[in-house]
Amino acid sequence: MRIKNRGYKRVPIERGTTILYGKPFAYVVRSAVRDERCDHCLRSGKLRKCSECQYVYYCDRNCQKESWSIHKGECAYLKKISPKVIPDAARLMARIIFKLNRGGADEMGHYSEKNVRKFKDLMSHYSDIKVDAKRQEHFFSLYGVLLQCLDETLLPNAVELMGIYGRICINSFNILDINMNTIGVGIYLGASVMDHSCKPNAIAVFEGTTIIVRTLTDLPFLDWSQIRISYVDLLNSNKDRRDELHSSYYFWCDCERCKEEEPMVEAAACPNLSCDSPCSIETDECKKCGTKLSTEFKEMFRAVVDFTTHHLEEMKTMAYLDVSKICLAKQEGVMHEFNIKHVRTLEMAHIAAINLECWEDAESYSKKLIPGYLLYYGEIHPLTGLLYLTTGKIQLHLGKPKEAFKMLNKASTVLTITHGDKHTLVREELRPLIYQAVMESQNT
Ligand SMILES: [Zn+2]
Ligand SMILES: [Zn+2]
Ligand SMILES: [Zn+2]
Ligand SMILES: [Zn+2]
Repeated sequence: MRIKNRGYKRVPIERGTTILYGKPFAYVVRSAVRDERCDHCLRSGKLRKCSECQYVYYCDRNCQKESWSIHKGECAYLKKISPKVIPDAARLMARIIFKLNRGGADEMGHYSEKNVRKFKDLMSHYSDIKVDAKRQEHFFSLYGVLLQCLDETLLPNAVELMGIYGRICINSFNILDINMNTIGVGIYLGASVMDHSCKPNAIAVFEGTTIIVRTLTDLPFLDWSQIRISYVDLLNSNKDRRDELHSSYYFWCDCERCKEEEPMVEAAACPNLSCDSPCSIETDECKKCGTKLSTEFKEMFRAVVDFTTHHLEEMKTMAYLDVSKICLAKQEGVMHEFNIKHVRTLEMAHIAAINLECWEDAESYSKKLIPGYLLYYGEIHPLTGLLYLTTGKIQLHLGKPKEAFKMLNKASTVLTITHGDKHTLVREELRPLIYQAVMESQNT
């Protein structure tokens, strides 16, 4: 593990500085992608199965060899329960149990030169989890799986086991690929020191299984007690984020953003089409232009919200272009452009259009999505940077290299801060696209 030698010396930290690198204490590949990702390094490509369990896949012998010290404890039980798939959380728990049995309790994760954390230092929220019915049910279902898989003598007592479960619930990170898709879940001892804010000043990105924490804002100096990342998706209302944080992490967020007014998140459009003010349907007229919000308009708005909510729920696993288009048509002139449900619908349309390679649609939805991302994620955020990148890529498909070049430069401004010049996303994805845009611009 490498740490920048900044400690608590009062050296100003610019945004886009890596303040922590860390290897996971324990991790597992997401079972949904276990035949697409190497169980050791999480890379995709041509993979081969473990000939014993036929459950995990590796790039090559090297990855298999390096992983063996971890895999040997699970290979036999994975074979035994096959073709059943073990829940990710149970597999992660099993890996942690093996690791702790082999002296893992002494492993230290640094987050600065002098500060370290061990597994026992991670918050378990034991007393909260103990009275949380949903978590108790989950815990006992995992416990049942573990009893099927492991020799009972290997299992710690119930209190310790729930402590491990609690630490996983509170501290695990989703490991993301370069497109920000979740491909694994892991525990990072050092990085788990960071608290949450809905207006974060840092972000965690990944290179394989390595976590990289980078600053999003300039800081007067590095004070770890002030570093905040976001634990939840920021494209949500204050209420939804706070509810999610409370049910998952047992605290009520009182960050700056949670205290701000948010007139747009559930807003209707003003019936006066030349007015862009968000309108609350709890009121009878537009605050800005005074246009009346009729009963019919309010009823229509509520119907469109219900219709959209229903279809967004249905599209959680798969985005459909036709469904998204119907929702967007109904929302036109009824929902405000920054209403979260509208932004989410645009996101679905954007994803579906890309999957279907409908590039014209994809470009139009990408561009419409940008203002929503800027508002909810902020300008310097990996998802905003990725959206610029994707938009530029679509424009290259459409033979618009000059527009693509502008878009990709915006992506570069963001991603060199959030990921850095050396990240695979920037080196192997963004730079070649910029090069392509430059070359194609010269030919037109
Ligand atoms: Zn590998
Ligand atoms: Zn195996
Ligand atoms: Zn907050
Ligand atoms: Zn108005």
